[in-house]
Amino acid sequence: MRALHFIAWLPLASAFNSYRSTLTDCLNAGSVPILLTSSPGWSQEIAPYNLRFTPAPTVRTAVKCANKANVKATVKGGGHSYGAFGLAGTMVIDMMEFQNVTLDAATGIASVGAGLRLGNMATKLFQLGQRGLPHGTCPGVGIGGHATLGGFGLDSRLWGLTLDTVVALDVVLANGTAATVTATQHGDLFWALRGAGPGFAVITQFHMKTFPAPSVNINWSHSWSFSSASAAAAAFLAAQNWGQQNAPKELGYGIVVGPAGGFTLRGVYYGAKSDYEAIIAPLLALMKSVTGGAQPSSSVQVLGWIDSLTALAGSSLSTPVQGYDLHDTFYAKSIDTKESATLSITALQGLFKYLFTTTPPGGAQWFILANLYGGPGSVINSFPPSTDPSSTSCYANRDGGYVWQFYAFTGNSQPPFNPAIITFVKNMVGSLGAEAAGLPAYAPYADPQFTQTEAQVRYWGAGVPRLKAIKSQVDPKGILYNPQGF
Ligand SMILES: Cc1cc2nc3c(=O)[nH]c(=O)nc-3n(C[C@H](O)[C@H](O)[C@H](O)COP(=O)(O)OP(=O)(O)OC[C@H]3O[C@@H](n4cnc5c(N)ncnc54)[C@H](O)[C@@H]3O)c2cc1C
Repeated sequence: MRALHFIAWLPLASAFNSYRSTLTDCLNAGSVPILLTSSPGWSQEIAPYNLRFTPAPTVRTAVKCANKANVKATVKGGGHSYGAFGLAGTMVIDMMEFQNVTLDAATGIASVGAGLRLGNMATKLFQLGQRGLPHGTCPGVGIGGHATLGGFGLDSRLWGLTLDTVVALDVVLANGTAATVTATQHGDLFWALRGAGPGFAVITQFHMKTFPAPSVNINWSHSWSFSSASAAAAAFLAAQNWGQQNAPKELGYGIVVGPAGGFTLRGVYYGAKSDYEAIIAPLLALMKSVTGGAQPSSSVQVLGWIDSLTALAGSSLSTPVQGYDLHDTFYAKSIDTKESATLSITALQGLFKYLFTTTPPGGAQWFILANLYGGPGSVINSFPPSTDPSSTSCYANRDGGYVWQFYAFTGNSQPPFNPAIITFVKNMVGSLGAEAAGLPAYAPYADPQFTQTEAQVRYWGAGVPRLKAIKSQVDPKGILYNPQGF
């Protein structure tokens, strides 16, 4: 294990003075670099993506020191947790220096340092061997929180979630010892780390399956706008059901709803343009009939792998290792619908009525995203449920249909945050009615409004008892901390 780069928030309260001296003595003895509240660059280094959260002062140090001092430690990867959970500990371990990417040409297994952000990782994998793996679209998201909780990209129905590609993890356990974890070595921990990772170990390196990057990628979108909520709901129902029943796994498929009174179907087809056209033609015919012949505003681009990722990101894939400075100030909720049932016309009418008649508070902006995780041949749903004895991942929603995200942010993405935005988002979900109440939620879209108990049930469902048992074995003192985890 290489030296970690630690952030220490040193509280001034006298009750913490003994922690502080134990921690700093321990760190200094091990020559661990420490960033203090008084250090240059402090404010920038600790800024989370979601500026709604301003973490209280705390301490940065190594796991052994945390153990010795008996303080709760969290790990910061890319800092993109919706609840800024990487910064929630008394001590924060910043993985920024773990930037290595290597590729074994014979096996296609990539070894990726836990400090990588997705854009830099994708670029490097392509440079090393024209390879790729499934992951989200935002280049600044860190692999640390992404591959431990989920990791969805438009290629995930073809290749799986990011966590499904993980074949081994190099970790530091809560007692400060290092281990390599696989399906057959520390199998219980491997199961826990692939879905509920934060709080079970500090991951220093991921070993992941890669795939030949497709040379032809069709980035496509078709948008419609509507003058009434009922027309929008009827068209949405058709698009939702078509995707779940017909979209082949090579067709990344999502629906984006925005304030302009309509929605956009968009995704990537991983294959030839002629195949894309043959697959999408029945959808466009269906949409024409349900919209009374409306012409969509369309874009279809044939792109190489890196250009496709860049177009999805809407920016360069390159992010700085130090001094990352993109942020938002927001609240979001998610629901995972089931493969067995799409949302009904009644639920969708409730939602669009709400969207057509409600003004967001204080100039807030919003979007809703429904990405297809299930559907014909989806690799995400090809794995056994987390409770199956053969399962190697605690990711709970192997029977999912769409993952919906409801997201609202301050008009300029900066604080101050108006708490009425939280109510606005909750009411979006509420407008769907009873069908949406109690559905599972997607752990990477952490909802800080959940109590810990509710979060556990929504994210990990029937896997909760086993996760609790594993936590008590690997971290009995509760040193590694995830506010909604174990
Ligand atoms: C703008 C934006 C776009 C997004 N797009 C997508 C998307 O397309 N698809 C998708 O699936 N998700 C997406 N997400 C959600 C994202 O996957 C999660 O927020 C993810 O947890 C962020 O990981 P991070 O390392 O950047 O965050 P952090 O805040 O650093 O970490 C998140 C959690 O993981 C823990 N953690 C981080 N690194 C480690 C480690 N090495 N060892 C142990 N625990 C660790 C932290 O302690 C924290 O609990 C997006 C988020 C944002 C803000």
